[in-house]
Amino acid sequence: MKVLVINAGSSSVKYHLYNMPEAEVLARGVVERIGEKNSELSHFFGDKTYTEQTHVKDVAEAMELVLDTLVREDVGVVKSLSEIGGVGHRVVHGGEEFTGSVVVDEAVIASIEKFADLAPLHNPPNLAGIGAVQHRLPDLPQVACFDTAFHSTIPEVAYMYALPYELYEKYHIRRYGFHGISHRYVARRAAAIMDKDKYGINVITCHLGNGCSITAVKQGRSVDTSMGFTPLEGVPMGTRSGDLDPAILFYLGDKGYGVNELNTLFNKKSGLLGISGASNDVRNLVKLAKEGNDRAKLAIDVFCYRIKKYIGAYAAVLGQVDAIVFTGGIGENSVFLRSQICEDLKQIGVELDQAANEATVANEDQISTSDSGIKVFVIPTNEQAAIANDTYKLTKSGRRENRNRTTVMS
Ligand code: ADP
Repeated sequence: MKVLVINAGSSSVKYHLYNMPEAEVLARGVVERIGEKNSELSHFFGDKTYTEQTHVKDVAEAMELVLDTLVREDVGVVKSLSEIGGVGHRVVHGGEEFTGSVVVDEAVIASIEKFADLAPLHNPPNLAGIGAVQHRLPDLPQVACFDTAFHSTIPEVAYMYALPYELYEKYHIRRYGFHGISHRYVARRAAAIMDKDKYGINVITCHLGNGCSITAVKQGRSVDTSMGFTPLEGVPMGTRSGDLDPAILFYLGDKGYGVNELNTLFNKKSGLLGISGASNDVRNLVKLAKEGNDRAKLAIDVFCYRIKKYIGAYAAVLGQVDAIVFTGGIGENSVFLRSQICEDLKQIGVELDQAANEATVANEDQISTSDSGIKVFVIPTNEQAAIANDTYKLTKSGRRENRNRTTVMS
């Protein structure tokens, strides 16, 4: 059975076509710069690449382009779209309703629409992706996989903010957490590598990419995570501040900063970019720091220190930690940062194997010594494979109805 995985954002649509259950990628690609004059499709199939410059107005048009490309005689990989048995979508916000992936029906669509209030930049393009497939292939089962779902097991004590309770009741202000598809995937991989049951290990998963979040996974379930009501909370990121004293906002408000300006300042101009004044990319910062740039070094130091603090806090939350996992662009690739983060974690039982760390770039391996009290792994994330898997499980019978709200939480 073929499964199409869609990750639709406001300016890009990424896709992967899988042959399931083998999880073989038949084609993948991305439509970028949606809404601009110079939109571009990059389509990869076999060992070939096809690119096309064209104006793509919105997500619906991007989806049309993707579906058309998949069946083209010259660069396509299927004869007919009827060969596709299910479409899985990454959906950012599932509110408090979704605890796993679900088959899309009208009620699911209405809920995703409702939660757009909580994720105004993400849920609308996710929905547009679902709508475009519905329009073109109304009988094809679709599945929504939520970034928040893995965190639905976080207990009240960890998700409540110490604000007036009415704000939770009235506006649903609480910790939701994000990157759940990635945290779940690497936590399951860690259990498999350790030859343990997926509900049999405690692990701290560090997803360090453009956005960064850290999750405490107890016996296979998320019990706390660093991102909160929005992805702004937690460790500093490429351009986001992460945790800070909220009174800074009132102070800057009094100085004349408007809400939109503060939003841009804290989400787009802070983090590694804000401190260094040079770049949000760890590759550049490590290079600059090695050349003697003090602010690049400071940005890296703050980043690593704050990650270390979260790992320490989550060690206290979990009591016993079996493994720490690094994933995401930084976690998978930056030998330097992994080494710096792990340096003082000796105190909680981490012993990094420097040679293994240096040898592990973008591949899966253990980077702690064999007698380290806490194992440390690098596990490249694979959100699209996780979505393909959930979609396959929920649609392989060809069923479209979702009356009982079957969810998968593998
Ligand atoms: P996203 O969160 O958008 O999926 P990624 O997980 O791809 O992003 O992470 C992108 C970030 O990973 C880059 O901004 C960069 O800081 C970092 N990165 C990518 N490759 C390397 C590398 N070889 N060394 C260090 N950092 C890297």
